[in-house]
Amino acid sequence: MSDDSPSRPSAGTTIPLPVPTPDNAGFWEACRHHELRLQYCARCGAVRHPPRPTCPQCVSFDFEWRRASGRGIVYTFTIVHGPTLAAFQASAPYNVVVIQLVEGPFFVSNLVGCSADRITVGMPVEVVFEDVSDTVTLPKFRPAVA
Ligand SMILES: [Zn+2]
Repeated sequence: MSDDSPSRPSAGTTIPLPVPTPDNAGFWEACRHHELRLQYCARCGAVRHPPRPTCPQCVSFDFEWRRASGRGIVYTFTIVHGPTLAAFQASAPYNVVVIQLVEGPFFVSNLVGCSADRITVGMPVEVVFEDVSDTVTLPKFRPAVA
């Protein structure tokens, strides 16, 4: 692979955005409507995230989307100072959090509306949505309003 690969961001580029696949298109479409939906196995009911073709419990291909609470806790986090991908350098330092949703799955995102020194493991959070383009909305989290 050469250094001028088209998949490698360069300085001044916008952040790379998700490209929906048949497995996760329902997730991204729900985000566009500011809803968090999780993929559930239509055969055994197991929740699975990130979305994937088959159930890790029973290997069924059948699934359905169910609206999630959007609530969870900070399971762990880090503050990124860089170096990082060029597209993210202007945002550094920024946080990357792993949220454990009340439905069970872990979810990698960013915490907004909270300075780095206030982030704590176990803090309750809730989803918010950031429209980043005409077709893509990213789910982020903020400290939960009691
Ligand atoms: Zn299953």
